[in-house]
Amino acid sequence: MPPAKRTYHLSISTEALDADPELLGIISAAGVTDVWIAGFLYGHWYFSLEKIRPWRERIEKHGMAAHVINVSLGHPGDSLGSSSGQVPLAPPRHWKMAVLPDGHKYCGTSLHDPATAENCEAMRQIQAAGVKRVFLDDDFRLARSPGMIGGCFCPEHKKAFLQRTGYGETQWSELLEAVGRRQLTPVLRAWVEYTCHQLTACFRAQQKAAPHVQLGTMAMYFGAEKAGIRLTDYADVPARVGETMFSDNEFGRLKGKTDELFSVLFHRRFIRPELAYSETTAYPANRLSARNMAAKLVISTISDVRNTMYMSGLTAFPREHWRTLAPAMKRHAKLHATLAGHAPQGPLKHYWGESSRYVGDDNPYSLFLALGVPFEIRGTPAADGFTFLSDADARTVEQFGSVGTRFVARPQSGLFGGIRPMPESLAELFALKRELAPQLERTPYVEGEIPVVCAWYPTAQAVLLWNPTEQPQELTLRHGSLRRSVRIDGLDVALLEGIG
Ligand SMILES: [Zn+2]
Repeated sequence: MPPAKRTYHLSISTEALDADPELLGIISAAGVTDVWIAGFLYGHWYFSLEKIRPWRERIEKHGMAAHVINVSLGHPGDSLGSSSGQVPLAPPRHWKMAVLPDGHKYCGTSLHDPATAENCEAMRQIQAAGVKRVFLDDDFRLARSPGMIGGCFCPEHKKAFLQRTGYGETQWSELLEAVGRRQLTPVLRAWVEYTCHQLTACFRAQQKAAPHVQLGTMAMYFGAEKAGIRLTDYADVPARVGETMFSDNEFGRLKGKTDELFSVLFHRRFIRPELAYSETTAYPANRLSARNMAAKLVISTISDVRNTMYMSGLTAFPREHWRTLAPAMKRHAKLHATLAGHAPQGPLKHYWGESSRYVGDDNPYSLFLALGVPFEIRGTPAADGFTFLSDADARTVEQFGSVGTRFVARPQSGLFGGIRPMPESLAELFALKRELAPQLERTPYVEGEIPVVCAWYPTAQAVLLWNPTEQPQELTLRHGSLRRSVRIDGLDVALLEGIG
């Protein structure tokens, strides 16, 4: 097997390249190897293949590969931030709008005829132009935003759903009620499956339309079945893990960082490391500092997402960012080579169950990731350690009975007796750490009560520490009788090796 390699990509528009023709030289020198140019936008060839062609040639002259990224269904509202203001914000009039359960309509993330046919035609043209790889943007989903139970509730989709399932008006009313209450009833499950079926069929049709193009998808922050994204359907294609926190306001918060890490770790259960791409987005383009953008590289290193893809809508983020990013990219490529293929292990369990995926609100219990105690990713509840549950999973985890792990969830009414209610706060979690510490003889962990992400890879005999605070921290890693002290700059990482 070839050695694992971290690669760096940039998704950008011809509009942004026109605005800064020197950018290609800058990114190539920084270590970017692939550039993805915005192409077909939800029914519009605003950036036509003729406009794209000369830029593809220039990208290749700079020693990089050129590919295309399509915004296939359209975002609800303006999520692209065109600097010219000329880019159409909505699909053309002959594309129908999506309908919410309450009857309200919105455009974008809506899948009706002829959206699939027109995307397929675009793929045929892209293939004919000699493009070999295409990504779909994260508007390729059927929910307006994260945390929503999606699908289109228009009369046409209602009729098709009732025909497919044999349900009638009674079950349709039950469905609307279950969506409102976020309750995973059989009819709601059938609805989510139906929505997934539509989105997967659209993806497969686009693959079939251009069989010589490798088509990839993008999962959206916590994207899963309730948004029509059946992750297992995309196991063999390139996929971008879901991130958000696109600005300093969002990423600057500790829970902003741990939520983002949680979403990426969740998606990596379904996406192979070499096919996994990050979302690494600044939006609006100038709202995420270079320092925070560099800090996002850590999340990919911890989760073994091999490919970083930078993005900032249709406008480029400030070119000065590359001065900070270039050395950080080299450093993470090196760190990643040590950790690639190894999975983090530890007594704290990351779990995102079916209820979260089908009916949850996408607010994970994630702060435990900054406790300085190692964690691991579980598809089913573990036999040991502490498992931190979302509100939705907490309501249904009783089905697993007593499997050994100790469940923790935010307090809510009706929690079953096997769950320890605990507000998601550092004070509560550090109290838990004090309780847990005497049992950590064989597990390396960081002493004290400063937020730090401690990812332990026993098969690599390595610990990666991430300081998520803005300030430098003096930290001590304890492993049995061994103690190692390390100073880590704000938002920076340290790799400690030789720790089995
Ligand atoms: Zn519809």
